[in-house]
Amino acid sequence: MSVQTLRNYIAGAWVDSDSAPGLDVHNPSTGEVIARVPLSTSAEADRAIAAAAGAFGNWAATPVARRCEVLFRLTGLLRDNAEAIARTLVEEMGKSLPDARAEMKRCVENCQVACGMPIMQQGAKLTGVSSGIDGEVLRLPVGVFGMIAPFNFPAMVPFWFLPYAVAAGNTFVLKPSEQVPCTMAQITELIDASGFPAGVFNLVNGDQAVGEALLQSPHVAGVSMVGSTRVCRIVAETCAKTGKRFQAMGSAKNHLVVMPDAKIDQVVRNMITSCFGCAGQRCMAASAIVCVGQATYRQVCERFIAAARAVPVADPLDPAVADAEVVVGPVISAAARDRIAGLIADGVAEGATLALDGRGLTVAGREGGYFIGPTVLTDVTSGMKVHRTEIFGPVVVILQAGDLDEAIAIINAHEYGNGASIYTQNGHHARRFKLQIDCGMIGVNVGIPAPAAYLPFGGAKASLLADIKTQAEAAVRFFTQDRIVTERYWPED
Ligand code: NAD
Repeated sequence: MSVQTLRNYIAGAWVDSDSAPGLDVHNPSTGEVIARVPLSTSAEADRAIAAAAGAFGNWAATPVARRCEVLFRLTGLLRDNAEAIARTLVEEMGKSLPDARAEMKRCVENCQVACGMPIMQQGAKLTGVSSGIDGEVLRLPVGVFGMIAPFNFPAMVPFWFLPYAVAAGNTFVLKPSEQVPCTMAQITELIDASGFPAGVFNLVNGDQAVGEALLQSPHVAGVSMVGSTRVCRIVAETCAKTGKRFQAMGSAKNHLVVMPDAKIDQVVRNMITSCFGCAGQRCMAASAIVCVGQATYRQVCERFIAAARAVPVADPLDPAVADAEVVVGPVISAAARDRIAGLIADGVAEGATLALDGRGLTVAGREGGYFIGPTVLTDVTSGMKVHRTEIFGPVVVILQAGDLDEAIAIINAHEYGNGASIYTQNGHHARRFKLQIDCGMIGVNVGIPAPAAYLPFGGAKASLLADIKTQAEAAVRFFTQDRIVTERYWPED
């Protein structure tokens, strides 16, 4: 079977990349090559940026309602084609089909919210700032925006930014993750069919070279970055030097706190989904459980490990697991699997107990896949490498705290602060948790929650550099510039 080489989409046309031969894209469930992705050069990225810069003036001057009409068409096309795209997403990324469908739904929802731009982009006016003088705030488009995407949400993460950027009158250059380029290639066909003028949206496949071109170009006004904190720091430093606005959403280690009064049956089911969905490769995956009190710790360890052992590990497209509440699919690559296995070994070496070991597992008929089963380490203490590090796989560490204060201190001492949840029936404890936890997104009796499209999304500490969140109003703020006008007219003589 011949394997398709993906193309770039620049100035409203599909173009072959100058670079060869590119990288193989694998189905992580089987190891099969499903496409080839070009590693475009910085010159190709510059061509896309030039196209976006050329399209900016007319698009910014297009009435906002007309811009939203195009986005409405894209929203419909995304909804109509969601199932086919979800399958591509599963094939190249390995998450379950229900997770991929939910991801597509979130893309549609972000488009729907961005279609409210005629309301959201309104400025303000204060009549009579002084005698005969008015003050006005205009919210204007900014220019060309770049977006650098991670592998774990090939569709949803770009849609945290793209609909808001273009609805607000900006133009856009997207660099998908080179590990999962097929989903956005398919979505770009829909963007093309929606009727955006040439150059408003551009897609450039590649690796770090394309990312660097976006960061360095004087024609890019701002960059949205989602990925590891390591790369977020590069983005933050480079944008500071090149004078761009940026938002950079980084790595995570999300904690679940279980209080002694928690509803244990519901909690265990809930924690299993939060920890093992997407094989733990979500920035909002729970990966550390903190049990308050010895009795809670013992009960959670016993119940959680038994439930984790029962989670099926399979190719998510296997019909046998179609109805499973949670299925652990493959991780993204053989390298990721080996890195995760190494971190588990490090945990054992530093004194954690390996209560459930998912290493060395093969799935019948999928021997080439990159699988690692649910893994649980107990007797973990704050500061161990397995606690400090974002493992980004189906690996959970369980810690014990003497009381809620200690649990909060463990979480607040962590480098990352994306999300945290508490399980309790006690409103006073929940309230203290909400107010005292240094994380961006908090849950009470829910797994680590990814906020809906009409709420802001973003973490804290090293999980979010620059405190600029996304979705809805937060995205509108990033993709618009305020211009403040002070205005007076003298009376006619
Ligand atoms: P990654 O940082 O390895 O890569 C992300 C993107 O950056 C890729 O497109 C890559 O090509 C590009 N890149 C790499 N080096 C670059 C450089 N020097 N300059 C410019 N671009 C460069 O991340 P990943 O492995 O694809 O994704 C997983 C990570 O993303 C995890 O840490 C996860 O927590 C994080 N993530 C965070 C959020 C959030 O909202 N905080 C959401 C999703 C994923």
